[in-house]
Amino acid sequence: MAPETVVPVTPQAEIYNNQMQDLIQRLLIELGEDPTREGLVKTPRRVDKALRFLTSGYQADVDEVLNGALFTVDYSEMVIVRDIDFYSLCEHHLLPFFGKCHVAYIPNKRVIGLSKIPRLVDIFARRLQLQERMTNQIAETITEKIKPLGVAVVCEGTHLCMSMRGVEKQNSYTITSAMLGAFREQARTRMEFLELLKLRSGTFSVTGMPIPHHTHDHDE
Ligand SMILES: [Zn+2]
Repeated sequence: MAPETVVPVTPQAEIYNNQMQDLIQRLLIELGEDPTREGLVKTPRRVDKALRFLTSGYQADVDEVLNGALFTVDYSEMVIVRDIDFYSLCEHHLLPFFGKCHVAYIPNKRVIGLSKIPRLVDIFARRLQLQERMTNQIAETITEKIKPLGVAVVCEGTHLCMSMRGVEKQNSYTITSAMLGAFREQARTRMEFLELLKLRSGTFSVTGMPIPHHTHDHDE
């Protein structure tokens, strides 16, 4: 319905937006602010618009995004799209987490147009998320759509809910991975992928599975 992840404005959405703006105004008051002061007058409208965009992945239709970009080919070597920027919101604190996502798969007669992979990442990033779930959703969607021999997704994310709140050191980041099919079953395939990535951290163990820097604190 919305391949560009733009939310159409309908009269109903306008009413809904007004409710959202009322909530943001209430939030400003709760924070001890004066929502009528100059700098804040338009803030509820801006926040409303920003939040709609940052969660527009809910409205996006995967099939529509991939429509016309699935091809049959005689190619069975690893396809890698690395360093895809992603920006998401942590569902526990509604604060951003962002970083790089690397996607690889081994085709089984079907491939996805390369430019569609970052679009797929956006669809799952623009929601309230957990990095672990986002990583799995990207891998599972590719598996479902083209039934490849294997899919690997690795995400490296900085979580502002940790760095801004001083829970962790400023520069720490979280690595999550999803390895399906050949990437799960064959250590050699997995290692080839990880070596091709040359991750900035260098913290991958000999088995090829990432060592998480920390676990996301779910309770605070
Ligand atoms: Zn969080």
